[in-house]
Amino acid sequence: MRYIEPHGHMVSRTTNDYQDMATAGCVAVCEPAFWAGFDRSSARGFYDYFRQLTDFEPKRAAKFGLQHYTWLCINPKESEDLTLADEVLAIIPEFLSAPTVLGIGEIGLNKNSRNEIKVLEKHVDLAAKHEQLILVHTPHLEDKLKGTRLIVDVIKNDKRIKPERVIIDHVEEHTVKLVLDEGLWAGMTLYPESKCTPARAIDILEMYGTERIWMNSACDWGVSIPLAVPRTALEMRKRGHAEDWIDKVIYQNPVQFMSQSRRFQIKA
Ligand SMILES: [Zn+2]
Repeated sequence: MRYIEPHGHMVSRTTNDYQDMATAGCVAVCEPAFWAGFDRSSARGFYDYFRQLTDFEPKRAAKFGLQHYTWLCINPKESEDLTLADEVLAIIPEFLSAPTVLGIGEIGLNKNSRNEIKVLEKHVDLAAKHEQLILVHTPHLEDKLKGTRLIVDVIKNDKRIKPERVIIDHVEEHTVKLVLDEGLWAGMTLYPESKCTPARAIDILEMYGTERIWMNSACDWGVSIPLAVPRTALEMRKRGHAEDWIDKVIYQNPVQFMSQSRRFQIKA
């Protein structure tokens, strides 16, 4: 089995996780910028985080034969503070030239507030100006449908952004069609407790097909499973799906989306 982990917060994981992922067939892991579990006190905290994402993690992953790519932003949870958000947005461009940066992410909404929407628009503008791909986080269950609609509107309103260069992550049964119908990509997050379980994710693939869709573990410092993607692939085999069908979802699709950035070069 070969696969890509398109959304893993590896700064929160141990080297054993890298080793397990490589053993299971992981070729590359892509790490969007994320909330640390606590609010950072200044833009310098983000500066150091971006150094960790662009310099330290690629080296740590390489020790296990894994390629590591990243996405940069201030996450929606911390973007309520507009001054801090502007300061962080101002330091992102200097990191965009790093060889492993694929784009701006994971941006989006958390509580669907006005300030969050303003910061989302600024990130979309930054992506357009620097011709970056976009990875979007959608809010948790109770606000997901409304939040997804708001996000799709912001993206559609910026005519410089091509929908096929944007992935909307953490889709579920009630948001996947809305995203795919707009020509955007959709990501499904495999969590043991919330978001999609493996069984639900496979149901969604069986209902909506395998075009413009991927799966990720979104493993972070919370309850999550770094091997969720290969484990779901085993579940697909159990259901009798063909190897090429599985390979398309867990390998070919992430490669197709991320290869829209010249930076993404699979060595395997
Ligand atoms: Zn995430």
